[in-house]
Amino acid sequence: MRMYDLIYAKKMGGRLSAEEIGFWVQGVADGTVADAQSAALLMAICLRGMDTRETLALTLAMRDSGLQVDLSPVPGVKVDKHSTGGVGDKTTLVLGPIVAACGVPCAMFSGRGLGHTGGTVDKYSAIPGLRVELSQDAFRASLLATGFANSAQTVDICPADRKLYALRDVTATVESIPLIAASIMAKKLAGGAGALVLDVKCGSGAFMKSAEDAHALAQAMVRVGLAHGLRVKALVTRMAEPLGWAIGNALEVMESVEILKGLHGDSDLARMSFRLAAEMLILGGAAGDLAGAEAQVAAAVADGSAMNVYRNWVARNGGDPRALDDFSLLPGAARAVTVRAERGGYVHAIQGRALGLLAMELGAGRRDLDDVLDLGVGLRVHARVGQRVEPGQALLTLYCNAREGDPLPPGWITLGDTPCAGAPWLLETIEA
Ligand code: URA
Repeated sequence: MRMYDLIYAKKMGGRLSAEEIGFWVQGVADGTVADAQSAALLMAICLRGMDTRETLALTLAMRDSGLQVDLSPVPGVKVDKHSTGGVGDKTTLVLGPIVAACGVPCAMFSGRGLGHTGGTVDKYSAIPGLRVELSQDAFRASLLATGFANSAQTVDICPADRKLYALRDVTATVESIPLIAASIMAKKLAGGAGALVLDVKCGSGAFMKSAEDAHALAQAMVRVGLAHGLRVKALVTRMAEPLGWAIGNALEVMESVEILKGLHGDSDLARMSFRLAAEMLILGGAAGDLAGAEAQVAAAVADGSAMNVYRNWVARNGGDPRALDDFSLLPGAARAVTVRAERGGYVHAIQGRALGLLAMELGAGRRDLDDVLDLGVGLRVHARVGQRVEPGQALLTLYCNAREGDPLPPGWITLGDTPCAGAPWLLETIEA
């Protein structure tokens, strides 16, 4: 087999066999395929696409390029959640303890952030002492002891995906639905859970800008999951304005705690986190329908059991659980600067992407993979789309340390004279 022939076939719009895809991915993992040839094939796939059979083969080949996590010693259906990434998205921090408190083992591998979106691993790093990179043994032990485990994906999982993602990043080939679906699902399959809820974000702050593309990505991932025996369901959710009030790592930990202590119950963040948790309970077999699952979620928040799981999990993994009740123990910022409304009006839009980039400039996120984060900095968004604001009312607070960041981009918020309703956060659900 020659890479040249695979590239030529895909360039001409042909289909690759599972053997050909396996040959390529194995060559990426062991270094026998040149980056130039992989880059050419990635571009051909980007332009010509892949059908479901090819996407499945690519997923499996990438999964098999490294180790797989064995969660069989943990009884029950282990559930995982994946989000395609959004600004202020801390749903994992909220739903993990809830799902575990409801008796379903919640086993999640998470990523670090890059660009305008944050990563769950970075948010958890803000909790003093918490170990965010666990060995397989430590991951299983946390799951057995607390019902919850979360770790950064280690380098021995899907190494071919890691190499291909780095190549895609520099060759403008990230935005391809089959490549994204295979990349995400390979890591999810390797993570060892038996059920998966997918949150596919759609809108100006997300990878997928249009509802059609978000639908296609969600469907591609659901098909891959089902073909490999996963219980899987996707929710397509809107991502334009930031999710919740906090953008920045320690701030997002604070917001997750507030929600688990019963605050902001009517926010999009709470609704989305609770719904995702409920879907996880259904896939995990703890509830027969949505109403029953949502009642369990509400009870786990109201009776404090979800917060207790959060504290136990932090303590079990080396962190200081007191930081969840005393926020002065979390990293902080030296200065707070509040931006106020120059005029009154109704909030018509807030540009999540612009605020995500601003938070990154302050040090909350990474421009490059090896950037060091300032875990205490970030933004508090006081306004929501649809809200009426008066002149002088606080819209945004910037929490800064060493870096000032860029000036606020004009147009980060749109105020209008007419009332405006916020759009619904859930666009559709996909199960097959
Ligand atoms: N996240 C991934 O893990 N892979 C992609 O290709 C895109 C987003």
